[in-house]
Amino acid sequence: MKIGVCVKQVPAKDAPLAIVEGGAWIRESDIGFETNEPDSFALEESLRLKEKQGGEVVAISMGPDRAKQTIKEALAKGADRGIHVADDQFYKLDPLSSARSLAAAIKDEKFDLILTGLQSDDQGFGQTGVLLAELLGLPHATIIMQIEIVEGHMKLKRELEAGWFQWVELPLPAVLSIQSGINKPRYATLKGIMAAKKKEIATVSRASLGIADAPTQRIERIYIPQKTKKTEFITEQREGKWNKVSFETLAAAQQIVQHTKGSLTAVVLGKGVAPLADEIAAFQLDEVLLVEHDLLDKYTPDGFSLALHQVIESAKPDLVLMPHTYQVRDFAPKLAASLGKGMIGDCIHYRYENGKLIFVRQMFQGRTNADVVFTADAPWIATFQASAFRADLATKHASGKAPVKPVSVDLKPEQIRTKPLELFREAKQAVDLTQAPILISIGRGIKAPENIPMVEKLAKLLGGEICASRPICDEGWLPMDRQIGSSGQTVAPKLYFALGISGAIQHVVGMKGSRTIAAVNKDQNAPIFEVADYGIVGDLFEIVPALIEELEKTAHS
Ligand code: FAD
Repeated sequence: MKIGVCVKQVPAKDAPLAIVEGGAWIRESDIGFETNEPDSFALEESLRLKEKQGGEVVAISMGPDRAKQTIKEALAKGADRGIHVADDQFYKLDPLSSARSLAAAIKDEKFDLILTGLQSDDQGFGQTGVLLAELLGLPHATIIMQIEIVEGHMKLKRELEAGWFQWVELPLPAVLSIQSGINKPRYATLKGIMAAKKKEIATVSRASLGIADAPTQRIERIYIPQKTKKTEFITEQREGKWNKVSFETLAAAQQIVQHTKGSLTAVVLGKGVAPLADEIAAFQLDEVLLVEHDLLDKYTPDGFSLALHQVIESAKPDLVLMPHTYQVRDFAPKLAASLGKGMIGDCIHYRYENGKLIFVRQMFQGRTNADVVFTADAPWIATFQASAFRADLATKHASGKAPVKPVSVDLKPEQIRTKPLELFREAKQAVDLTQAPILISIGRGIKAPENIPMVEKLAKLLGGEICASRPICDEGWLPMDRQIGSSGQTVAPKLYFALGISGAIQHVVGMKGSRTIAAVNKDQNAPIFEVADYGIVGDLFEIVPALIEELEKTAHS
């Protein structure tokens, strides 16, 4: 089996982020770089597949000369050769241009399988795998937690929100975006490091690939966000029932239309979804397009993007907005690329200035914001992060309803390459953290499992339960049922005490409803402070022992 794996070099996690004047990018001179952590899981998975199936693993990285270091690390771990797509200014590329360059560099390799991490820890676009698939004409699946190769096709376990999973079947060749925590990435051995020296790294300059620069979007500036406390609760949906996030996006669309003075149309897609179309028609909209087809009964990226492609071509909207759910992130980049357009994903906000729509999205794991604008012609596709807007601000028609217009789409069974199988949850959770009044939550700042007893002691003194961010559970330092966040439990205790947690959105959506949030983090710009009521900028290894000492004194007095 011939496997290509995309590995990106990104600023080291603890690198101080200084933004260059004008906000074009960060100052790179004083910082270290490392392999994008989500890509390490993709690399490990590709090595394991090679060990089982035979074949070769090719590590592919785009970036300046320093990106070769990331390829060398992959070779030292066991990849067979590397492809370096050289470009000093690659950080300026929009997701579609990056993917076009990568696709051009690897198309003749004819890989059986291409793996990517789910997103990069710097720009965080989370689109590369899906775009590569579309550009190479391959099927794809994202957020993969298990791969089984069975007689020329794959059975894949996809992660969904809130502890749900789904099995899907996909033919080969294909592109997969791998979820963090699927495996334990190996370390390079000394022997591996020595062997890597003899392995080939082919360098191809991006300029030589002949990809015309046609950016679909531009980052206007990057900046450190101001801290404002926002609290909003998020509910989940499954199988034909509304997701509250859809109404948040509806509220956003209604607000945007007030600026642009255009019309607003809702698109309802699926099978047997006429009642949902009727329900949404009560909201302030000009019309509802109802797209029903047998092949849209179950979600597939091929079905949804093919159908929406046709709807967009006939309705000709300027702007298409969607909530940034796991499902949308799975197909929306493909839809955009199939239209030759780019997508600005995972936005937290928008501004309308001098007749221009500016989308605000997070970068560097929430440590900075970026203003991004579309540069190419409409239609423009953007997605909004959960809780970026308040669903209860979506307004209804004073009386009557918007007209519901059925729209037919042409889909053929052979166009749908994914076979969706059952949805399921893992074994029932042993601890129900939703009932705990006090939660002490640890993140990667805890550094090692040996340090957890210190926090357990604090939890005991406070009468609380211990829980964690995803990397702690991925590492197996605490069981999975203690994970808080979009793929773990959603909690709302009286006190949520976050220790060494950065506050990535996927974590925050699981705890922001807490009555009081206290956070200890040594980085004053950590996004956790945006939702914290009380924040201590400091080292948890000083603060936790001091707290324990004080609480013990109180207990004994
Ligand atoms: P990091 O982001 O590495 O942060 C560690 C923090 O510790 C840093 O802010 C650092 O400044 C601080 N620190 C370090 N040392 C110290 C010290 N000595 N004292 C004080 N502070 C210190 N994540 C979840 O948590 N739950 C989920 O359900 C979840 N689901 C996900 C689903 C998807 C689809 C994706 C893409 C990601 C998901 N994630 C989830 C991962 C999420 O994006 C983040 O990667 C993760 O939350 C980061 O965990 P962390 O804050 O512990 O680690």
